[in-house]
Amino acid sequence: MAGKTVKTEAIVLRSIRYGEADRILHLYSKTRGRFGAIAKGARKPKSRFGGRLEPFFRLDLILHEGRGDLMTVTGVATLDGYPRLRSSGPALSAGARACDAVLRLLDSAEPNLPGYNLLCRYLTLLDDPGDPARAAGLEVALSFRLKLALVAGFAPELASCARCGEAEHLAGFSGAAGGVVCSGCEAGSFGLSEEAHRFMVEALALPLAEAPPADPRALRQVERAVGETLEHHAHVQLRAAA
Ligand SMILES: [Zn+2]
Repeated sequence: MAGKTVKTEAIVLRSIRYGEADRILHLYSKTRGRFGAIAKGARKPKSRFGGRLEPFFRLDLILHEGRGDLMTVTGVATLDGYPRLRSSGPALSAGARACDAVLRLLDSAEPNLPGYNLLCRYLTLLDDPGDPARAAGLEVALSFRLKLALVAGFAPELASCARCGEAEHLAGFSGAAGGVVCSGCEAGSFGLSEEAHRFMVEALALPLAEAPPADPRALRQVERAVGETLEHHAHVQLRAAA
């Protein structure tokens, strides 16, 4: 068989039934970025792949890279199946939204180790949450989204006006400008509360598990700020955060 053998660690973002017995996987890997692979015979009852090719599984993969777009899975070992995440509805939804955001935002074929590690940390937190409602809640989900924007190169400007550099009177946010804006530059922006601004600064500085608290109104503003920044600058539209 022409082509070469590739080994990498990856998380299953999406798993689609294909043909009679196969699966097509969307994977985000540690060393090769995002790619697609086919697992032939994966849905046969005695498949050597077992039930591992489902979303959220973190796998050690051996693949064959031929000339086509899809690699072929030839070997697989489970590194983590996140079993508790799978048994909680809110954690499953949060994990699915995170995988969807990675699928849309992180480039194919270009490795992004901070992005890969961020997704692993979120899945680990959802799997072993301490406080399950908080781990699957909006504060942590938006903190993940901000950090994902950062590792993708699209973090909003938060320290000074994204249009003129003014450091005072920052009262609005503009997705087109890519950050907070001052009262003199607020055309086309929406109002951003101090609490929403503080949340974004702190969430980017703190570990995911320590996402700061904020009221629902501030969190809606944060979601809008991140969403509009990514729409304007990454040309990506994310699903609702909760
Ligand atoms: Zn300004």
